[in-house]
Amino acid sequence: MTDTTTATTAAETDATAPKAPITRLWAYARRHLRLLLIGGALSFAGGLVGLVQPLIAMDIIDTLAANESLTRPLVYLTAVVIVGGALSALGPYLMQIAGQDVVLTVRRQLIGRLVRLQVAEVDRLKPGDLVSRLTSDTNLLRTVASTTVIGGVTDAFMILGGIGLMAWLDPVLFGTTMAMVLMVTVMMLFIMPRIQNATVDSQKALGDMGSLLERVFSAFRTVKASGAEAHEIGRLDGAATTARDKGVKASFWEALAGVAAFMPVNIAFLMVLGVGGARVASGAMAIGTLIGFLLLLFYLMGPIGGLVASLSQLQTGLAAVHRIEEVASLDSEEPETAPRRSDRTGPAQVAFNDVTFRYGEDLPFVHHGVTFASSGRGLTALVGPSGAGKTTVFSLIERFYPATTGQVLVDGVDVTEWPLEELRGVIGYVEQDAPVLDGTLRENLVMAAPNATEADLLDVVEVARLTELVGKLPEGLDSRVGYRGTTLSGGERQRVAIARALLRRPRLLLLDEATSQLDAANEAALKQVMLDAAERTNVLVVAHRLSTVTSADQIVVFDTGVVRAVGTHAELVEKDDLYRGLAASQLLTAA
Ligand code: ADP
Ligand code: MG
Repeated sequence: MTDTTTATTAAETDATAPKAPITRLWAYARRHLRLLLIGGALSFAGGLVGLVQPLIAMDIIDTLAANESLTRPLVYLTAVVIVGGALSALGPYLMQIAGQDVVLTVRRQLIGRLVRLQVAEVDRLKPGDLVSRLTSDTNLLRTVASTTVIGGVTDAFMILGGIGLMAWLDPVLFGTTMAMVLMVTVMMLFIMPRIQNATVDSQKALGDMGSLLERVFSAFRTVKASGAEAHEIGRLDGAATTARDKGVKASFWEALAGVAAFMPVNIAFLMVLGVGGARVASGAMAIGTLIGFLLLLFYLMGPIGGLVASLSQLQTGLAAVHRIEEVASLDSEEPETAPRRSDRTGPAQVAFNDVTFRYGEDLPFVHHGVTFASSGRGLTALVGPSGAGKTTVFSLIERFYPATTGQVLVDGVDVTEWPLEELRGVIGYVEQDAPVLDGTLRENLVMAAPNATEADLLDVVEVARLTELVGKLPEGLDSRVGYRGTTLSGGERQRVAIARALLRRPRLLLLDEATSQLDAANEAALKQVMLDAAERTNVLVVAHRLSTVTSADQIVVFDTGVVRAVGTHAELVEKDDLYRGLAASQLLTAA
């Protein structure tokens, strides 16, 4: 196979999904077929060289007997041992490399898909299970894609050759044997899917185990504080036990497949002996043919056993493909190649135009026709009771989800028409729960702006009031923050998130209750940051403190999925009951 054909077939297989697992498996393996074939050929050659060894041994004995010089046969023997050894090591090694390459190809594909998954898909997925699909399931492909394929194909050829010879030797005995071959085939058709199903179940249990463990660690202190360790251990133990039971079940069917292959061959042996014996006695067949036939049958036992083992192994691979393809078929955001839309600078406008939205077909509407506009420079505060749909507004601007009807416009262009990467490049977003990722402070800050200079970095650290924190950490910006930033306080995490968003130099800054966990001094300082930013960019803030709200250029009051009023603080206190209530209770008391 040439390079060009490999490339085109690879492209074809990517474009057309879904396919039968066996087709997918073949598509994975095919790209590394050349290495696989070379490895297989070398292993085979190693075997052949091994065959020469007894011949040389005979030569040595003859030479000894003849009292001649041993040099020549000994040189041959050494050469054969070295070459044979090298080939027998190199061949399987190359096949293993091919197997690892297959796994790498599949993992790369999966990683690309997983990280680009749509938010809506991730809402209902379990990260632990995804991890196990990426690590454990792909690993199952390694053996299948290397030794199994080569071994299976060689065995299949040997069996076909043997059967052909049998047909040529004696049609009657051949018929007898074929009846047995048919029996083996039928039994395999029955057993093989069961191996596959048991393996899928076993791998699924492993995935469950991963999800359960991830679940525990994602709320570790709560689990401990709730005294729920025993309960959680019980659930994990259950998953581990299921994995074991299903694995045993797969082994049972594999063992049965072994028996199911040998029994009919043994029966065939006896029947050929009986039928053939009678035919020899009646003179219809020469004794030599019968012996040849029996020897052939005997010889075929090895390849038949090998083929059945390969087929069993193949089921494991197919089970893995099944679980891998489940992930591969999830919706992800395709990386776009569309050119940049504009080189606009300055604040980005945002407008919602009669937007309705629900998180799922079976879920109630969260937005029932939201309309508001924030036409540029300035501070727009979104307020309203919890659950009114404020965070959802930000999710729609970021295009984490598509609006059900209506339009979400940024710079007057529907977000669905923006190249995704560019849209998000315009925005700095501080989420409500201000996530911080494992890694150093620096990594957390520059993740949204990899090209930021050290000066920019120090600047946002200063602006977000992180200087003191950085100063007291042993390694400053290069200190690690722990899983989910667990070594930071809630307020510190919020400031890290704000610094990260600012470092991106956004044209649109979305702050979701970004100062909710800050003390009065820090809050006042960050309010100033917000106002400064509002000079240069468009700032939308979900606010729950009066001090933020009173400084806003406009306030959008949300109530159960609709905008009930828009105005300044003074106007709204005047005209809107809900706002007046909020201002009096929630906003004021929280301030
Ligand atoms: P707010 O930020 O105003 O408190 P949200 O926009 O977060 O409210 O949520 C509005 C409604 O949408 C809530 O009833 C919430 O339960 C629901 N909701 C939020 N996120 C999701 C989600 N990912 N999947 C399903 N429902 C959600
Ligand atoms: Mg919210």
